[in-house]
Amino acid sequence: MLTADVNGSRCRPLPGAVGSCPFCNSEMIPRCGEVRVHHWAHKSKADCDPWWEPETDWHRNWKNEFPLRWQEYLFTDHATGERHIADVHTLAGLTVEFQHSHLEPNERRARETFYKNMLWIVDGSRLEGNRKKITEWRNKLAEIIQNQHRTNLFLTDNADDLFPANWTNSPAPVCFDYMGPKADSSSDPQPLFLLYPETVHRKRLVEPLTRDGLLRSILSERLNMNSVRGIMQNVASLRLGGRRR
Ligand SMILES: [Zn+2]
Repeated sequence: MLTADVNGSRCRPLPGAVGSCPFCNSEMIPRCGEVRVHHWAHKSKADCDPWWEPETDWHRNWKNEFPLRWQEYLFTDHATGERHIADVHTLAGLTVEFQHSHLEPNERRARETFYKNMLWIVDGSRLEGNRKKITEWRNKLAEIIQNQHRTNLFLTDNADDLFPANWTNSPAPVCFDYMGPKADSSSDPQPLFLLYPETVHRKRLVEPLTRDGLLRSILSERLNMNSVRGIMQNVASLRLGGRRR
């Protein structure tokens, strides 16, 4: 975890500090080495959130892009009492979950049902096959052109081929990060790809985004399930004669 409770407030890890987990109250030990992103480690995570998984630096670096008070948000469903730690939860109520490792479809659905207004950010770089396919994305995605203007929105029949198959039927928007934890900053940055849910014009809608662009949309609270639905409705209402590859 990036935060722990220290004397009643959420804190970053500091050498020598003792914290407690905001979910399970167990003691947490600061890990402030020179290699990994600084974090807190459970002394025992036996009673912690069953959805909690060991984190990579990819995961921690993403979470650290957001305000501390949005990170590791204790999310409670007041109707059922069920609670989980959301990676990031914005003031406007969007939950952002980062997923590096494989997630079984039933576990993915459980999180989607629980958080509802959510965005997945998936580490696509760990799957060699997908990383290779996405380098040819310009040949595989057709941009929507309106009044001779580019929209940066693309339609595809081949989402299942381009993206990791167990993510393409998510009811939530899924953003694939192919740069991964060790992106080479000297080469052209590969965009992230936001895959919209369901279909529009019987195709899948995809928006390539820079990392900064995605962060701006989330930090400014412009990105949420309502805005995603709005964009999908706009695209559905278009006549697509001007579409080109
Ligand atoms: Zn815990």
